[in-house]
Amino acid sequence: MRIYELAKQLGIDSKELVEKLKELNFPVKNHMSSVDKETAEIIEHEIVNIQEKEITDNVIEVDFPITVKDLAIKLGKKPSELLSDLMKEGKFLNINYNLNEELASSIAYKYKANLKNRPSKEDKILTVDSKNLKLRAPIVTLMGHIDHGKTSILDYIRKSRIADRETGGITQHIGAYQVDISKGKITFLDTPGHETFTAMRARGANATDIVIIVVSADEGIKPQTVEAIDHAKASGAPIIVAINKIDRPNANVDMVKQQLSKYDLVPEDWGGKTSTVNLSAKTGEGIDDLLEMIALHAEIMELKADFDRSAVAVVVEARLSKGKGPLVAVLVREGILKNAAWVVCGMFMGRIKAMHNDRGEVVNQAEPSFPVELLGLNGVPNPGDQLFVVPDEKSAREIVEKRKDEEQRKKLIPPAHMKLEDLYKKVEAGEAKQLKVILKADVGGTLEAVEGALLKIESKEVELFVMHKGVGAVNSSDVLLAEVSDSIIVGFKVTMESSTRELARQKGIEVRVYQIIYELIDDVKAALEGLLTPQIKRVFLGRARVKSVFKLTKSGIIAGCMVEKGKILRNAVAHLFRGNEVIHEGKVVSLKRFKDDVKEVAEKFECGIGIGYEKIQPDDVIDVFSEEVITRRLK
Ligand code: GDP
Repeated sequence: MRIYELAKQLGIDSKELVEKLKELNFPVKNHMSSVDKETAEIIEHEIVNIQEKEITDNVIEVDFPITVKDLAIKLGKKPSELLSDLMKEGKFLNINYNLNEELASSIAYKYKANLKNRPSKEDKILTVDSKNLKLRAPIVTLMGHIDHGKTSILDYIRKSRIADRETGGITQHIGAYQVDISKGKITFLDTPGHETFTAMRARGANATDIVIIVVSADEGIKPQTVEAIDHAKASGAPIIVAINKIDRPNANVDMVKQQLSKYDLVPEDWGGKTSTVNLSAKTGEGIDDLLEMIALHAEIMELKADFDRSAVAVVVEARLSKGKGPLVAVLVREGILKNAAWVVCGMFMGRIKAMHNDRGEVVNQAEPSFPVELLGLNGVPNPGDQLFVVPDEKSAREIVEKRKDEEQRKKLIPPAHMKLEDLYKKVEAGEAKQLKVILKADVGGTLEAVEGALLKIESKEVELFVMHKGVGAVNSSDVLLAEVSDSIIVGFKVTMESSTRELARQKGIEVRVYQIIYELIDDVKAALEGLLTPQIKRVFLGRARVKSVFKLTKSGIIAGCMVEKGKILRNAVAHLFRGNEVIHEGKVVSLKRFKDDVKEVAEKFECGIGIGYEKIQPDDVIDVFSEEVITRRLK
């Protein structure tokens, strides 16, 4: 085989190949030299290795997602080249399309580049090797049905453990408190309710080590207890069951234990694995047993934190005080949080002006698992947001700016959660082995029937797992649980409030409600076999013409428009036309009439439209569409 033939096969220039072979000490003179088959194979192997190494070494740092245009600049190519590459793969995109990491990397590979996510300042601060690991107090959350005694238990513990050594100090509610028992310290989170608990987890904050499920001994397990159990299980935290109100004459501990067994929480004294404690928040009986039990679990878990690194905390409560500004209660997770440190938290930043403990006393530092309320942030963050110390004001500003940019970009990309139609693809790609379902039905009997029918569906590759089931409307707690557990929600003859529907849409959670049981079963079956395909129907809603462009500090670039046809709806799909060309595809992220945010603006009215695109110009035209996903079953 001649060298030029080999070069062609390898897709490189023949002169270049000759040079490379000379460098590698192969005895070749020029592109007409010939080599035997074995040598050709060795050369091929060597060259492929070199090419791979060249690509691996050619690291280009970018921020994902990256637009086609920005990627072209980074690769030193024309956007049109990239677009035509994409077109060859059947992807008809425009230059402002946000490419995800996978797609961008595959394009870059063709141009011999290795894309890496640029480590942000934030990543550098947060990724630290753990060095000085020391034991920390366990963080405990109580959950359960309303009125079963969560607050009473917390209050009893707090009073009995703090009051005796308190010098008349007034307890402050700062979302959490810590108590000392002979075996160490325990931090209790004020009962946030399982919804907030899961919302915090959705923000990435697993701020609970142990969950206490409180069940009243006279009422037993109620619907909210079941929700709490399922939310706790989904979090993976160990569960201790506190059977409360045993002082009541009609208390029936055995009944509760029997019910627990039905929910996979078989009590230890019944041969199971779940620790249970009988107690009364009224008389105080059993409270010490509960504390002991928590300490025992904590000991086994060996909970540790790095006391030396720069501090990271999680927000448990935040509010605005008229006189003092934002008051933010946090629980320190790593490092020691010190007064006067510069911090970033959610979309806000500031320098800590003061810190107080749960007795209102000033503290200058807080170690892991210790709750403090602090002053100094320039806004009110959300529970579950992370707060972390940065070296100086400049770094804080940079990180917050970058986060704001990212949020703006994220608005344009719907979150990727499990969809029934995608199941088969994910299974084939080895990304999914389970279909997690949250099941809601109108009455108990049908709930059991639907679950039974679903679990009977046979599939070799996929296991169907009912994450939670309940009677009644699909609610926001279901959506949050679906978000953290990547489940889909299936309802049978149930309703859903419009606010829940909107929440599910924002979070990209699939909710399917059926009226006929076999349709439900058929769809799940079809999805397991890869026979469900979505079809998107786009309906034109309206057209607006840009008259002027202005920048608002909060909402970014807003186009002052006149609605020429139909109506404009917030969250609708938007195409921005300049002349006959679509130069941006996005969503109506903000819609205003004068200063007010509105949902809809009708024909012949003026409005302000934001589509998350900076370079909008007067005379551009915005067409908006609604998108409806229709599922087709292939038969
Ligand atoms: P939460 O909604 O779970 O926080 O429940 P609470 O702590 O507010 O308690 C609800 C009601 O049950 C209150 O009236 C409490 O006084 C009462 N309660 C709580 N624990 C006990 C208990 O152990 N024994 C009795 N008899 N009543 C209790």
